Amino acid sequence: MTRSLTILGATGSVGASTLDLISRNRDDWQVEVLTANCSAHELAKLAREFGAKLAVVGDESCLAELREALSGSGIEAAGGAQALCDAAARPVDLTVAAIVGCAGLAPVMAAIERGGTVALANKEALVSAGDVMTAAVANHGATLLPVDSEHNAIFQCLAGSDIADVARITLTASGGPFREWSQAQLDAATPEQAVAHPNWDMGAKISVDSATMMNKGLEFIEAHHLFPVGLDRLGVVVHPQSVIHSMVEYKDRSTLAQLGPSDMRVPIASCLAHPARMVTPMQPLDLPMIGELTFFKPDEARFPATRLAREAIQAGGGAPATLNAANEVAVAAFLAGQIGFTRIAVVVEDVLNRYSAATPLSLDDVLSVDGEARQYASAVLESHALV
Ligand code: NDP
Repeated sequence: MTRSLTILGATGSVGASTLDLISRNRDDWQVEVLTANCSAHELAKLAREFGAKLAVVGDESCLAELREALSGSGIEAAGGAQALCDAAARPVDLTVAAIVGCAGLAPVMAAIERGGTVALANKEALVSAGDVMTAAVANHGATLLPVDSEHNAIFQCLAGSDIADVARITLTASGGPFREWSQAQLDAATPEQAVAHPNWDMGAKISVDSATMMNKGLEFIEAHHLFPVGLDRLGVVVHPQSVIHSMVEYKDRSTLAQLGPSDMRVPIASCLAHPARMVTPMQPLDLPMIGELTFFKPDEARFPATRLAREAIQAGGGAPATLNAANEVAVAAFLAGQIGFTRIAVVVEDVLNRYSAATPLSLDDVLSVDGEARQYASAVLESHALV
């Protein structure tokens, strides 16, 4: 049976992995909507290739280019923030939420409020909105399927079990490209070095988050909302091989782990086929060739981001949205060469110390905390120029 699909953030890394799987199973899927921010030509190419009904650019100034690139195709084009939300609200069987950053929040909420099934890669949206999003999922009868490899692993390890029997959930972290770097080396790390992840091929922002370990911090908060076992039962362990994607320990001390190649097509396939399974083009896991699986405690002296995230979710209120917004601004500044690598966490901590937002109770509240935290972050950045 053919199922309909929308991909928010189709031109990104998760979008490409999703479309790769769709291209191998064309008869199973009807692509309804594909979106991008401003990669109009790339979006038009994908929309033509996959026979989408609608293509949307978030940045309205790119709509003319999209229209031109789609001319004669019969594919509808739209642009702007509201158009993204309208597109996300179209009824489909599955929405893959793969926009990067809090920019993806409003469209994700539109898909949730329509009561749809959302395969969520866009972790920043859940980190920022937290209880607002989980309440909307419950109120509108929506379903969230976790795309993030760690959360997808946990989801698989929890299948058929009672969450009350869980003693501990452990998120694994590769440790990123700088795992063994000294403080002095970290201070001098460049954007090119930060985006060169040893195990995963990802977009620039998440690659930097992986290098600072903020990715694991955001995932810690994400896990707290998806799998509410209590913060004291959530942990992080560094596992450089990225073979075990996360683990669930039960009260009888039995631990279930999910293993697989470090390729996002595996967790994405799990969401596309859920609750069944589908074939992926990945090679089988070759454990003798991998040889060793190792584990380390995170070093929060060199990589303070997991501590900041833990403190933000413990503080609650608007702190997680503030952490996320400050991190987005700081990562963009690092990628633009405006601040040094280790300043990212310093900027985030500074913003968390200066700005204390009230608990957001609605999407508008979350967006307002996000906006204010960005202003604080921009002000803080001025005092952190370069290194
Ligand atoms: P990319 O940077 O590769 O792609 C981001 C996508 O979002 C692009 O389609 C981009 O469009 C679009 N986009 C960016 N900004 C906006 C905006 N303001 N409004 C609307 N659309 C926008 O990101 P990734 O695919 O790496 O990551 C996407 C999400 O998935 C992130 O939240 C990330 O944390 C998460 N994730 C990613 C993984 C990975 O392996 N990449 C693994 C697990 C989670 P355009 O091309 O026009 O800029």
